[in-house]
Amino acid sequence: MTLVDRWIPSQRHYRQKTNMLLRITNLRTRVEQPEADLPARAAQAVGVSVDQFRSWKILRKSMDARQRESLQFVYSLVVDVPDDAKATPKNSGDIQVDVFEQKPFFDPDPGSSTLPHRPVIVGSGPAGLLAGYYLALKGYRPIILERGLAVKERVPAIRKFDSGGEHDSENNYLFGEGGAGCFSDGKLTCRITGPDVDWVLQSFVDCGGRPSLTYEHRPHLGSNKLPMICRNYRRKIEALGGEYRFGCRLEGLKFNEHRLVGLETSSGFIDTSHVVLAMGHSARDTYHMLLAAGLPLRPKAFQLGLRIEQPQQLINDHKYGRPEYLKQLGAADYSLVAKGQLDLFTFCMCAGGVVIPSVSEPNLFCSNGMSNSRHDTPFANSGLVVTLEPEHFGSTHPLAGVEVQRKFESLAFQLTGGTYDAPVQRAADFLANVTPSSQEKIPSSYERGIAPRNLNEVLPPVILKAIHAGLPIMDQKWNGKYLPEAVLVGPEMRGSSPVRIDRDRESWQIPDMPGVYPVGEGAGYAGGIVTAAVDGLRAARKIVEVFAPPT
Ligand SMILES: Cc1cc2nc3c(=O)[nH]c(=O)nc-3n(C[C@H](O)[C@H](O)[C@H](O)COP(=O)(O)OP(=O)(O)OC[C@H]3O[C@@H](n4cnc5c(N)ncnc54)[C@H](O)[C@@H]3O)c2cc1C
Repeated sequence: MTLVDRWIPSQRHYRQKTNMLLRITNLRTRVEQPEADLPARAAQAVGVSVDQFRSWKILRKSMDARQRESLQFVYSLVVDVPDDAKATPKNSGDIQVDVFEQKPFFDPDPGSSTLPHRPVIVGSGPAGLLAGYYLALKGYRPIILERGLAVKERVPAIRKFDSGGEHDSENNYLFGEGGAGCFSDGKLTCRITGPDVDWVLQSFVDCGGRPSLTYEHRPHLGSNKLPMICRNYRRKIEALGGEYRFGCRLEGLKFNEHRLVGLETSSGFIDTSHVVLAMGHSARDTYHMLLAAGLPLRPKAFQLGLRIEQPQQLINDHKYGRPEYLKQLGAADYSLVAKGQLDLFTFCMCAGGVVIPSVSEPNLFCSNGMSNSRHDTPFANSGLVVTLEPEHFGSTHPLAGVEVQRKFESLAFQLTGGTYDAPVQRAADFLANVTPSSQEKIPSSYERGIAPRNLNEVLPPVILKAIHAGLPIMDQKWNGKYLPEAVLVGPEMRGSSPVRIDRDRESWQIPDMPGVYPVGEGAGYAGGIVTAAVDGLRAARKIVEVFAPPT
């Protein structure tokens, strides 16, 4: 039984009349201490005995790594105590006890106006998946269109490419069941909190994730677990009457004088009055189609830069003061920021991971990273990015940012002779602007093949300047240990969307285009798995609030 399972009140407790939820925050334990000690510590703070708890659960678990020799976990717990237990909470030291009031998840009853057709969701990434899941749970039998194939067929296409095969424009690390999310690193961290985030994380658990995902400070699923989880969501959606159409690409939207009436797809026309556009930020052909159809697209700042690889051992040694921590905590991660005219920051750090190609169109190269739940390669990799504002795009065209991406991804592809090999360079050579010998042996986890090249040729000058200024600052923060063994790969361009599709703040539909809900990363409203998933959920809920399921 996991600790979370204990949150199920027993029958005996249901019979009791009144109770109180108390939150205990800042409860610290050394990382080597077992979690089983937590209830006793919580009981002491609350002033009751453990057997007076009706139930308890961990709300949050984070790590305090300020003292490298003595790492600590910091917990928030909530306990359910009957009134007659006469709790006498004690705020001692850093530990705080207060009454816990949980904000409920907003789960509206369906609206009164019946949908004439089933709602359609374009894209099965986290945004589309959660929109589809919520609509399916509420009885709307959504149709999910996915241009790529189901996980079972997508995985072999990716494996084939990694071992030197042809690029497949519909099945790759970005397209196919589960979207970019399915082959992402699976870090479920995000900057937003609240009942919608909790609901999404719980749905990951319901679809096969471990229960502690709901409270860990930096929950990580791992790229090896995501395909199974995406498939489990699909099975639930289908069991509830929803439908997936794989190999089906959205190619046009049809409107009458009032609203959306249908969708043109690569597999024929679909009658619908409601579409959730969750096509991610790499569907460049779809962006062009939507722009031509009159949707309000505009350029948006996005992150770009390189990926940095080091031996994972270096990160472990730097983070963990004592070797036994590695066994207890697994491969260490890190994040760094170098403040400057433009800040340079690390992003999507993959401990014990691999660098992968993040390309959906042929003849381009772009890097990204992932890791399995075991974090078991000898490499650590992390994005090393700078935010590029639209004023640097060189044009005010809505897709100017996409063209910036394309230009440098194409340069990177040509630099290695059109092979999809990754251009790599030692950090010291990058900073000195020295082109490496093509024979140089440079260590990298990128599977398909690497080519030593000068990465100063694959990024805009404004970004190069920020990386050149920021890397030495990061190295200083690590007392000169960050760069000597570092290898750079790149460019890294797909960390966020260069486009936003405007939508109404209230209805989440495009003004003047009722029935069209742009969501997730591709519409510019999310920057990661959880934020994309929450955005999809919220769009679906907007549909539920107003409309009744189709008959
Ligand atoms: C390698 C990698 C690692 C990452 N690691 C993390 C991480 O650890 N944590 C994190 O939070 N985020 C991570 N991300 C980012 C995360 O994956 C995205 O933020 C998230 O997937 C965005 O979700 P989405 O649903 O908006 O779009 P996507 O996941 O991009 O899904 C869009 C889907 O739409 C489909 N589609 C596109 N056009 C059409 C069309 N015309 N018709 C039909 N279907 C279409 C695509 O095939 C795709 O399946 C990573 C991304 C990558 C590439």
